[in-house]
Amino acid sequence: MKIRDLLRRAQGPLFSFEFFPPKTPEGEEALFRTIAELRPFRPAFVSITYGAGGSTREKTLEWAERIRQMGLTPLAHLTVVGSSRQELEALLQSLKERGIENVLALRGDPPKGSSRFVPHPEGFRYASEFVAFIRERFQDAFSLGGAAYPEGHPESESLEADLRHFKAKVEAGLDFAITQLFFNNAHYFGFLERARRAGIEIPILPGLMPVTSYAQLRRFTEVCGASIPGPLLSRLERHQDDPQAVLEIGVEHATKQAEELLRAGVAGIHFYTLNKSPATRMVLQRLGLTPPPSSPIPPGPPPAPGGPGAGPA
Ligand SMILES: Cc1cc2nc3c(=O)[nH]c(=O)nc-3n(C[C@H](O)[C@H](O)[C@H](O)COP(=O)(O)OP(=O)(O)OC[C@H]3O[C@@H](n4cnc5c(N)ncnc54)[C@H](O)[C@@H]3O)c2cc1C
Repeated sequence: MKIRDLLRRAQGPLFSFEFFPPKTPEGEEALFRTIAELRPFRPAFVSITYGAGGSTREKTLEWAERIRQMGLTPLAHLTVVGSSRQELEALLQSLKERGIENVLALRGDPPKGSSRFVPHPEGFRYASEFVAFIRERFQDAFSLGGAAYPEGHPESESLEADLRHFKAKVEAGLDFAITQLFFNNAHYFGFLERARRAGIEIPILPGLMPVTSYAQLRRFTEVCGASIPGPLLSRLERHQDDPQAVLEIGVEHATKQAEELLRAGVAGIHFYTLNKSPATRMVLQRLGLTPPPSSPIPPGPPPAPGGPGAGPA
């Protein structure tokens, strides 16, 4: 199912979960468990990231296909880092053949240790070029999403310039956008207002990450530029050596954010799960979204991609 259609037909807010492709068999087992635990909340779609520098290329494709085989709607992230147009076209073709209908089209970050993004000589400089390319080569085969930055992208010279570039990306063919994580809803509401004033009409799904580790939070926010409200930061700092307390603070904060966003009528909420279910489950349950007790939880991994049942939908 295309996310564009899911959003159009939705009677209420949608929930979606983001995972990354694990590197080890234990990580794979853990992700299957996490998906099984979150599945009863009936996510509208499940997104699977693309490793920095294109490092998980095949794994992203495999997991997108696995997610589809589990009966869930996958959203495959793709970045243009280190890939020529020809290679990107081949990846997209492979996604299409695997029955994947949704792509989050991204530029990607510069490789570790480098502060500047250097485009592949036969590739793209900006996500907007990638979006236009996908629309030209694949027309409507994919519902396309893109990234949005309520606090501005860390490399952009100003919020105004960033919004102008975001608008160009939307006009190149985006159906929806998902925001970078944020901890203060005022950033999201401000961005949404500026976007609507600029004539951007697509759904912009807020991305929330319930904090589960203080050290991890500091690492992430340093990379993505999201700010942490002072009171939240000092509470987390005080309890940083008590994982249970950090989880409780993170869940409480994310729940309050989600409640306010839902009251404001957002089209949905995208959860950055970091491949773990407890925090996201706790937030959803506190929002009153308890899954029905009879919800089926599949016993184990589905067949490997390429096995029986694989192939285009
Ligand atoms: C929801 C979400 C999911 C993500 N998933 C992944 C993932 O799976 N893998 C991964 O590696 N990264 C991921 N990222 C991170 C993302 O790749 C980085 O933030 C990256 O630095 C920018 O990607 P983009 O697609 O937003 O780039 P763009 O939209 O191209 O923007 C990048 C910068 O270029 C500027 N810009 C755009 N157009 C122009 C122009 N014409 N002239 C001048 N400047 C311009 C923008 O203002 C911005 O500063 C994700 C981010 C989000 C929000």
